[in-house]
Amino acid sequence: MTHLPVKIDDPILTVFFDRLYGIFADMDRQYAEAAKHYGFHCSGCEDNCCRTRFFHHTYLEFLYIHAGLNTLDLPRRQAIQSRAAWVCRETAKAVQKERPVRLMCPLNSDGLCMLYAYRPMICRLHGISHELRKPGQNVIHGSGCGMFDRRCSNQSYHKFDRTPFYFKMARVEGEFKQAIGLSDRFKMTIAEMIMAE
Ligand code: SF4
Repeated sequence: MTHLPVKIDDPILTVFFDRLYGIFADMDRQYAEAAKHYGFHCSGCEDNCCRTRFFHHTYLEFLYIHAGLNTLDLPRRQAIQSRAAWVCRETAKAVQKERPVRLMCPLNSDGLCMLYAYRPMICRLHGISHELRKPGQNVIHGSGCGMFDRRCSNQSYHKFDRTPFYFKMARVEGEFKQAIGLSDRFKMTIAEMIMAE
């Protein structure tokens, strides 16, 4: 990853974190409304989505995760770092052998996200059926997670459009990169983010 020309306590980050927080709050609100419509409540399951190898695409989410890590005491940070190192090693082995990767996110402890308030976009949106409206294309409908589809797929669809969130995230990320003079694209898993100081 490119060296970031910004430190985690840089005042410029406060401004962008506030915007990110606002977008996340909107996501959480709309997700909660949709979940209420279906009567869907995630209480954990066999195919825990925290085992999915999600990639995240913004420097801001990366920095937000590190801001969250800084709120934890040293023993917990060290435990997370050692789990992240293990996940990175095991992922590399699985990828080399072309095996599927289903490893628990290093931030998940006993079924709970240790940085729940700081979790990235996809962790907030995953699980409920949704739609995406790309300009000039037909609406793309996406299913929910396995448990959601088993429990709720026979119910009427509640509109949950991810498009405005994707646009807002892209805009705030673009403005942040411009403000600090970055042009590289970002793509990392949570484990990789934790290992990248
Ligand atoms: S960041 Fe939290 S919610 Fe997202 S995969 Fe990791 S443990 Fe799960």
